[in-house]
Amino acid sequence: MTTITFVRGDITEQHVDAIVNAANSSLLGGGGVDGAIHRAGGPDILNACRDLRASHYGKGLATGRAVATTAGRLPAQWVIHTVGPVFSAEEDRSGLLASCYRESLRVADELGAKTVAFPAVSTGIFRWPMDDAARIAVETVRTTDTSVDEVRFVLFDETAYAAFAAQGN
Ligand code: ADP
Repeated sequence: MTTITFVRGDITEQHVDAIVNAANSSLLGGGGVDGAIHRAGGPDILNACRDLRASHYGKGLATGRAVATTAGRLPAQWVIHTVGPVFSAEEDRSGLLASCYRESLRVADELGAKTVAFPAVSTGIFRWPMDDAARIAVETVRTTDTSVDEVRFVLFDETAYAAFAAQGN
């Protein structure tokens, strides 16, 4: 049984086994939660990302996929980087957003991570409407078979927290 919890806060401060990064396909850092993770975690994370690019992901990590690195000096042990889809009003990309959560949990299972914190993937620079993103995120975690004991959604502001917490009822 996976317990789903919702907290308002900063994902870089979470004492969990793994935190998930809403990365971009370059894996080389960006704004939003990605920038915050690299700032707080220090250079080891970026160095591990560069190694991954060189060894496995020459063209970058595809949308909907996930890969893990060290968490550097963060309290978590690992960062699982996933690439969310950019929101489109013309094309339904919700399968790719669901894939971010499913693939991140698959990687967490491979690592043996029992507690995993997620941000609201794609809801910042990638413009996914918060209520819809919350529905997809929670629904996907609920229906994914995983050995993770706790999935913690860490929401940065009150609007995001309210949207996610509403899915818990
Ligand atoms: P994306 O490119 O996938 O949209 P962003 O990082 O721009 O990624 O935004 C994803 C979500 O992460 C947004 O809701 C944003 O408010 C939130 N966020 C930004 N910084 C943090 C943080 N330190 N902890 C948790 N969530 C954060």
